[in-house]
Amino acid sequence: MIRHTCGYEASLYCKKCGRPMAQTQKGQIWCPHCGRKISMVCPGCGKLW
Ligand SMILES: [Zn+2]
Ligand SMILES: [Zn+2]
Repeated sequence: MIRHTCGYEASLYCKKCGRPMAQTQKGQIWCPHCGRKISMVCPGCGKLW
């Protein structure tokens, strides 16, 4: 489970290895397993995650 600064929570899974995505301290979404980083628009507030 990852949580945006607006409070929106989501469960994301890595498209590459299927593991649950996590967040860096800066809030960036990444996969702890394969190191893949993604950016997306938050469905909750419409801003960049
Ligand atoms: Zn991965
Ligand atoms: Zn948000």
